[in-house]
Amino acid sequence: MAGYGDTYYARTLTDMSQRSSLDGSVHADVAIIGGGLAGLTAALDLARACRSVVVLDAERVGWGASGRNGGFVGPGYATSHANITRMVGAEKAQALHRLSIEGVRIVEENIDKLAMSDNKRVYGKMSVLRYHDPDGLARQCEMMKREFDYHLEVMPTDAVRNVLRSQKYYQALYDPACFHFHPLNYARALATEIEALNGRIFEGSRVVGCDFEGADKIVRTAHGEVRARDVVLAGGGYTDELVPRLRRSILPIATYVLLTEAAPERIGDAVRTPAAISDNRRAGDYYRLVDDGTRLLWGGRITTRKTEPRRLAQMMQRTMVSTYPQLEGVRVETAWAGLMAYARHLMPLIGQLQEGVWYVYGFGGRGMNTTAIGGRVIAEGILGTSDRYRLYEPFGLVWNGGPFGVAAAQLTYWTYQAMDLAKERRAARAT
Ligand SMILES: Cc1cc2nc3c(=O)[nH]c(=O)nc-3n(C[C@H](O)[C@H](O)[C@H](O)COP(=O)(O)OP(=O)(O)OC[C@H]3O[C@@H](n4cnc5c(N)ncnc54)[C@H](O)[C@@H]3O)c2cc1C
Repeated sequence: MAGYGDTYYARTLTDMSQRSSLDGSVHADVAIIGGGLAGLTAALDLARACRSVVVLDAERVGWGASGRNGGFVGPGYATSHANITRMVGAEKAQALHRLSIEGVRIVEENIDKLAMSDNKRVYGKMSVLRYHDPDGLARQCEMMKREFDYHLEVMPTDAVRNVLRSQKYYQALYDPACFHFHPLNYARALATEIEALNGRIFEGSRVVGCDFEGADKIVRTAHGEVRARDVVLAGGGYTDELVPRLRRSILPIATYVLLTEAAPERIGDAVRTPAAISDNRRAGDYYRLVDDGTRLLWGGRITTRKTEPRRLAQMMQRTMVSTYPQLEGVRVETAWAGLMAYARHLMPLIGQLQEGVWYVYGFGGRGMNTTAIGGRVIAEGILGTSDRYRLYEPFGLVWNGGPFGVAAAQLTYWTYQAMDLAKERRAARAT
């Protein structure tokens, strides 16, 4: 069984306990494959409703993207509201966005209910432009207010540069309701609560086979099996060939994060806000202060390669220094990669493969709120208390395009990068 690697979250983990692997045959109402936040949220809601649940993770609880991400929690999906509206129309897009806001609330409620003393939320997120467009931001603010009664603020360039000492930045949208937190401590706290409610969780238990034909579905690991009326597939970007149709419907996309050494003065000179920060480029940078403002946790870049690049730390450091030249020489202590699952339409994949076989994955880079709502609507579907999961039906299991899909995704990313750069250059020439 793998450890959590050398990530910031593994270094600051409060609950170190390990769970045993599945050995032998067990029965449950629901078997959940994947102990990321999608699987855990579904398991917790089901356990709260007195269903017996078994969660199986190939590695550890929160070992995947859920325990190694940026820790930003805010509404929305991996694609824009405008794109979603184009795909499903205004009414459904609105309902979906409301669910994404509910996802944020679910995380907040869980933190409050479970009194997670190791998980302080830090509120506020700045989405920063790398070119001048105050009118575009004002329109976005008005739309969010009008359609969702959701409050955002436009920060002018001088206010932005007062707190983010980079000449790359112009205006920002400030969202006071977004927050950042410790996602691995959160995942492990959900797991502890599931067990307190008599749920069972097995780590080091990769599901290698399944039989979905009978009334009792069977999922098999190397040394055991679970028989359950319902099965939930929640493997995220680590989804393997267990159910080929699911694997073929996503592209696993890698993204990277670094943690700097403690350098309070130099970092404090560059970033003067505890808020979460992201820029508006597609797959742009996102970062935040951690450890009382002494270190930066910085994420960015995406690729379709699944292995970690050599010199990952240097590569990420160059990205950071290109925005904040004053951080040249601040050492990177550790850097790590994680896989996200993207469907071609960039929306989550949530639904039923057949009676009693559910899937919930494909959250891309916006998973903290969407895994929460995904887990919840799947639990409601299993309990029969709602069919809200059907709101995701228009985003079906579309083929990822195989090797051509991978190449196309990488090409699209490079094209977007080039377009973003051109836009920035035009902005720089105009000022
Ligand atoms: C570096 C990085 C930064 C990110 N930053 C943010 C952010 O700041 N905010 C945000 O909202 N989102 C962010 N995301 C996205 C977010 O982390 C993911 O969308 C979300 O965590 C996905 O959760 P999941 O439960 O679907 O998958 P995962 O958390 O990846 O969990 C899937 C689990 O399934 C297990 N598994 C797979 N196959 C099997 C099998 N056959 N048998 C048993 N177990 C199996 C794996 O071991 C894994 O633990 C980021 C992602 C990455 C990688």
